[in-house]
Amino acid sequence: MTRLIIIGGGIAGLAAAYFVLTRAQNPPDEVIVLEKDDRWGGKITTERADGFVIEGGPDTFIALKPWGMALARELGIADRLHGSNPKQKNTYILRKGRLHPLPGGLTMMIPTDFGGMLRTGLISWPGKLRMGLDFLLPPAKSPGEESLGRFVSRRLGREAYEALIEPLMSGIYAGDGDLLSLQATFPYLRDLEVKHGGLVRGALAAKRERMKRNGAAPGSRSMFVTPQTGLAELVEALVGRLRELGAKLRLGAEVVEVNMPGGLRIRPSEQIAPEPDSQAPEPDSQSGGYRITLSDGETISTDHLILATPAYAAARIMRPHDAELAALLDAIPYASTATISLAYPLAAVPRPLDGYGYVIPRREGRRALACTWTSTKFPHRAPEGMALLRVFVGRAGQEAAIDWTEDGLLDIAREELRLTLGVTAAPILHRVFIWPRAMPQYNVGHPARVQRIMAGLERWPGLALAGAAYHGIGIPDCIHSGEMAVGKLFDR
Ligand SMILES: Cc1cc2nc3c(=O)[nH]c(=O)nc-3n(C[C@H](O)[C@H](O)[C@H](O)COP(=O)(O)OP(=O)(O)OC[C@H]3O[C@@H](n4cnc5c(N)ncnc54)[C@H](O)[C@@H]3O)c2cc1C
Repeated sequence: MTRLIIIGGGIAGLAAAYFVLTRAQNPPDEVIVLEKDDRWGGKITTERADGFVIEGGPDTFIALKPWGMALARELGIADRLHGSNPKQKNTYILRKGRLHPLPGGLTMMIPTDFGGMLRTGLISWPGKLRMGLDFLLPPAKSPGEESLGRFVSRRLGREAYEALIEPLMSGIYAGDGDLLSLQATFPYLRDLEVKHGGLVRGALAAKRERMKRNGAAPGSRSMFVTPQTGLAELVEALVGRLRELGAKLRLGAEVVEVNMPGGLRIRPSEQIAPEPDSQAPEPDSQSGGYRITLSDGETISTDHLILATPAYAAARIMRPHDAELAALLDAIPYASTATISLAYPLAAVPRPLDGYGYVIPRREGRRALACTWTSTKFPHRAPEGMALLRVFVGRAGQEAAIDWTEDGLLDIAREELRLTLGVTAAPILHRVFIWPRAMPQYNVGHPARVQRIMAGLERWPGLALAGAAYHGIGIPDCIHSGEMAVGKLFDR
């Protein structure tokens, strides 16, 4: 009997189970998913309480990357997906404590509407003039692997980067744009520079191209979608289908150790060689050479193994066997983050909530990163007359400034709402979700590191990695990573 064990029941691990059972050319006889928590979905978690839909982690996924939409269609929930409220599309950026509307006409987050840029109070006149230099500066010949911050500052100037681009782009990763790798996060921006000679010129060309293709103004359809009652619907549908397909799904199953085939151990720069003193596991008569030990002492053997955990958890599993691979996995940094959702009667919010919310540039020195006006972005997610606000706290390099307790985070969120929106009332409901080491940081060096990780995996037949740590942190990328892991193990 052949078996696949997937460690980690986030979206990547669940997607891997789905793809092996629906796509693999030589599927195993048995598929087991082991999740240490008492619920499925990992970072995806939705609470439905008192007429509110509260997302603890992600709240939408991008529709342009095909893998999320395709899975939703296969699971029969595509008709439950909707975009953000088309009637109140403003997004604001904080500058010196005041909210400024995001200038219209951003294409791929790059400004392409000159009138809007001239009018915005977000950037000073010298800053705007510097942005115009993008039309004159030749493309850099071979800049090497650049940080997002360096690249955007080089093209549009430091002020435009700090006031406009940094909060929009780095915020996605809760990252530091001066460390994030352009190549690993927004590689198309460098393509625009190379192909069109400048960033704005390239964004304008992309805008024209999209208008020609769609026959409509860009942005007329929502780029981000989500199911009616939250992203947990995706997880619920996936888990339901996996049960129908016969997958064995086990919650509360923490993997504490994996013994590798033949007890091989690899240290940096060593060739594979059986260690004479290593305790080689007895080959399991029913299955292959990986032997998994759970926290309650139970062991299960398997021929095929997918580690769909954060990279540092995969490193812990690999460390006794392959120090080089473990060190590479451990070198992927993570930022901790938290979301705090607060509900108020609308009358308690002095400012009109006429948009999706606001982002906060790093240079503002706030402990919050952004605030989503959930009840405007998705009106059906709060009862009539209620405001639901979601504050994001925590970004790479600033974790020490934060009290990571529920009370500490609630205080930060309430202070943010008081300072920016003038809300002083106590919320009628609040939920705090703390995510330690949650957001992998695709810093400069990430693409090369991932390449070495994938090469190192070749030493371990039957082993694959999936999840947000490697080729994309968004939900569609994680789904795709599950599919790729299955392809590596079963379609060769
Ligand atoms: C606050 C927040 C907001 C976000 N917003 C968005 C958004 O709007 N759109 C978007 O596309 N993406 C967003 N993301 C990113 C996205 O949600 C994640 O990258 C993605 O869900 C990660 O999925 P995953 O399966 O790779 O990992 P995870 O969800 O982390 O799943 C890994 C699982 O492995 C389990 N595990 C770990 N070790 C073991 C072990 N030893 N044994 C058994 N199980 C183990 C964990 O318990 C976990 O459930 C957001 C992330 C956060 C934190």
